[in-house]
Amino acid sequence: MTEKLSPEIRDIFYSVEKNYNEITENIAAAAIKSGRCPEDITFLAATKTVEPIVINHAVSLGLRYIGENKVQELLSKYDEYDLANCQLQFIGHLQTNKVRQIIGKVSMIQSVDSLKLASEISKQSVKNGVDTDILIEVNIGREENKSGVLEEELFELLEKTSKLENIKVRGLMTIPPICGSKTENYKYFDKMNKLFIDISAKTLDNVSMDFLSMGMSDDYQEAILAGANMVRVGSGLFGARIYR
Ligand SMILES: *Cc1c(COP(=O)(O)O)cnc(C)c1O
Repeated sequence: MTEKLSPEIRDIFYSVEKNYNEITENIAAAAIKSGRCPEDITFLAATKTVEPIVINHAVSLGLRYIGENKVQELLSKYDEYDLANCQLQFIGHLQTNKVRQIIGKVSMIQSVDSLKLASEISKQSVKNGVDTDILIEVNIGREENKSGVLEEELFELLEKTSKLENIKVRGLMTIPPICGSKTENYKYFDKMNKLFIDISAKTLDNVSMDFLSMGMSDDYQEAILAGANMVRVGSGLFGARIYR
């Protein structure tokens, strides 16, 4: 099979393999350093702009979670993902009118930041007879024009979302502001972790704080040290993105 691949693809496979091994080692080291086990950390690959053949190669290496951030791209690649061996999640900003296109196709929607969006996910899940897991996205850096709820709005959204049918809140997600230093970055991750712990202590039906999704290619190790148990790595695994 491999001999039919173009030299270009073989090079890509080779570097993805090298990166995959390096990232899993780094994840394991950060997990242990933060008093957890490597298996406690979920490695999700952000697959935007990446061809399914390359994504599936990563899956063949052991990758178990992939995430797309655009509905159209997800749908165009959908039939080619090796979904027998990995779970597909949605990690980008989701418009309410596109929800119905992905319900039943994704195992989790990581980026829910309004009751309107949660209600539509609930409605479409009921219609399709499925349960959909979601994470609530928090705008931890209080940035204007950025997705996510503000900290002070989080609990109310959780309470209201928890009452919706066929939807289950599984945790929190964030994309912190672009920081000049690792220390500044760590502060945002730490703030998220405190929020995660606070919310975990409260009991709400249909809400279980299983995942704290934060950390990308440049900062996933800091994120794990600060408490993340799910990281979303794109370019660090697949190389710089080429937008076609
Ligand atoms: C692209 C993307 C990532 C990964 O970014 P990299 O810097 O390439 O690792 C993580 N999360 C979301 C929501 C993304 O869209």
